[in-house]
Amino acid sequence: MEDGRKKVDGGMAKRTKKVLVTGNLGARYGSGIRKRVLWLEKTRREVYRCEKCTSTNIKRVASGIWVCMKCGNKFAGSAYVPRKV
Ligand SMILES: [Zn+2]
Repeated sequence: MEDGRKKVDGGMAKRTKKVLVTGNLGARYGSGIRKRVLWLEKTRREVYRCEKCTSTNIKRVASGIWVCMKCGNKFAGSAYVPRKV
């Protein structure tokens, strides 16, 4: 009886392993994107200034469109990072 139970447990463990393998594959893809994410995190932390009033209070209103909250100046930038000044 105990042996039978162990067999069932073993099957369950195998299932978990299968999931882990898929996770590793995901990590593989992640390593390729990691560079991009790191770049994004780095550029996000950098301070950007409005071209008109040099205010750093800039907000992204749409993909690639940024607006200065101080003077309302709208300008185009990249999707995630305003144009570097
Ligand atoms: Zn401004």
